[in-house]
Amino acid sequence: MTGKPTALIAGAGFAGLTAATALAQRGWSVTVLERQPQLRASGAGIYIWENGLRILESLGLGGLAKNAYRGHAMEQRGHDNSILDDGGLPPAVRLVTLHRRDLLEGLKGAAEKAGVEIRTNHEVIGASAQGELLLPGRRSLRADLVIGADGVWSPIRKSLGLELGHQQTTEGAIRTIIEGGTDDLGPGGEDKYIECWSGMRRFLITPLASRQIYLALTCQETDEEGRAYPLNKSSWRSSFPHWAHLIDRIDDVLSWSPYSIVTVRSWSAGHAAILGDAAHAQPPNLGQGGGMAMQSALALAAYMEGVTDSRDIPGRLAQWERNERPLAEHCQHWSCLYGEVSTLPDDVRARAIPKAMADPWVRSELLRAANSRPTGAVA
Ligand SMILES: Cc1cc2nc3c(=O)[nH]c(=O)nc-3n(C[C@H](O)[C@H](O)[C@H](O)COP(=O)(O)OP(=O)(O)OC[C@H]3O[C@@H](n4cnc5c(N)ncnc54)[C@H](O)[C@@H]3O)c2cc1C
Repeated sequence: MTGKPTALIAGAGFAGLTAATALAQRGWSVTVLERQPQLRASGAGIYIWENGLRILESLGLGGLAKNAYRGHAMEQRGHDNSILDDGGLPPAVRLVTLHRRDLLEGLKGAAEKAGVEIRTNHEVIGASAQGELLLPGRRSLRADLVIGADGVWSPIRKSLGLELGHQQTTEGAIRTIIEGGTDDLGPGGEDKYIECWSGMRRFLITPLASRQIYLALTCQETDEEGRAYPLNKSSWRSSFPHWAHLIDRIDDVLSWSPYSIVTVRSWSAGHAAILGDAAHAQPPNLGQGGGMAMQSALALAAYMEGVTDSRDIPGRLAQWERNERPLAEHCQHWSCLYGEVSTLPDDVRARAIPKAMADPWVRSELLRAANSRPTGAVA
C-alpha cells in the first residue's frame, strides 16, 4: 500500500457517514457514493441512547446532544391511559431525541470536515471481495476497503452472497411531527417519552427540541383503518381518546410501512464489508437500529486504525465482526421480542408489562446496548 489507505462507501446514511468520518479521522482517504440527488432524512425524529451519544462525541458532534430534548423516562401506558411502567432511566444512561434531518446534517458536516468526499447521484449496484464497487454500465471503482452502508435493500449484501434473510414484519408505523411541547403531555410530562398501547395499536409520543413532537402510530398490516393514508384521525382518536388533542393536530404523515429484519452469513467478504441496516436491520422497538449502525461503523474504523498492508484488511474485518456482531444481534433479538407485546390482549399486557419491567434482568437486557462502551469512542 503506497500512500493513505483508501475506502469507498456506498450510502450516506447514519452508518456510511459515521464510518467515513471515523476512517478519515484515522488517516484514510474516503469517498462516499450516495444514490440520492441530496442527502435526505425523512421528516421524523430519532432516539439516540448513551452509546450513540458517545459515538457522536467521538466524531466531534457532542453539540448535537446539548441542543436536543432529553427525556429521563420512557413511560408506558395502557389502553385506559393508566401508567403500566414509569420507565425511569438510570442516571448514567442518557437518552435524547433529535429531528433526523439534524442528525444527518451533523454527520455530513463532520464527514466534510474530516476530508471525506461525498458524491451524490451515484448509484452502486454491487461489490466484489477484491475491493471493487460495481456501478451501472459495467463500470467499477477500486479501493483497499469497500463498504456497503446501503440500507435494508442493500445490493452490496446480495452481490457478495452475504444475505441469509430479509423479512418484513406485519407491524409497521406511520410517522409525523406536530407542533407542541411537554405541556401537551399532562402533569409531570416535562422530562419523559410516553408509549401508549391499545389493542394492537401503539401511540408513541416523543418531544423534540424547539416545540415539536414526533409521533409514531403503530399498527398491524391487517388494520386497514389504522394504516390508511391520509390518516384516519377518528379511528386513532377512538383508540387513544386521551391524546385526541395531539391527533387533531396531525397534518401530513409518512405513510405506514413495515419494518425489516435482515440476517446475514457474515459482515464481510475479503476487502468488502456491510454495515448498519444492510447487515442487521431490526424493528425500531429499542430505538437502537441507528445506534447500532453508528456503533458498528465507528468500530470498523477503529479496527482499521494503523493498517499499513492492505492484505491485513480481511483479517481485521473478521475480528471486527467477532467483537461487534453479538451486540447488534442482541438488539435485533430483543427488539423483535418487544414487538410481540403488541399482540397481547390489553388486560394481559397490563399485567405483563409491570412484571417484566420490574425484573432487573429484563431491564438490563433492554439496556445492554445503551450501557455498552462503543469500540473506538473517546470515553
Ligand atoms: C419507524 C422507524 C423508527 C426508527 N427509530 C429509530 C430510533 O429512534 N433510533 C434509532 O437508533 N434507530 C431507529 N430506527 C432505525 C434507523 O432508522 C436505521 O437503523 C438507520 O437509519 C440505519 O442507517 P443506515 O445508514 O444503515 O441505513 P439508511 O439510513 O437506510 O441509509 C442508507 C443510505 O444508502 C443510500 N443507498 C441505498 N442504496 C444505495 C445504492 N444502491 N447506491 C448508493 N447509495 C444507496 C440511501 O439513499 C441512504 O442514504 C428506526 C427505523 C424505523 C423504520
